[in-house]
Amino acid sequence: MTTSQKGRQLLLVSGYRFNRQGGRSNKVYWKCSTHAQRGCRAVIHTLEDMTVVKCMNVHNH
Ligand SMILES: [Zn+2]
Repeated sequence: MTTSQKGRQLLLVSGYRFNRQGGRSNKVYWKCSTHAQRGCRAVIHTLEDMTVVKCMNVHNH
């Protein structure tokens, strides 16, 4: 799992890109980059220190 600081924050998991969606308190939500266009429901929850809380890395593409 890697992050990129180019532009907005990006999370790369198994070749899929996740865009940071903000979050609540210490939690950060990441949605698949195709969520808006293709309705992919893959989502990852992390803490600010990038500890993975929840990983639903299931894609429809
Ligand atoms: Zn996806």
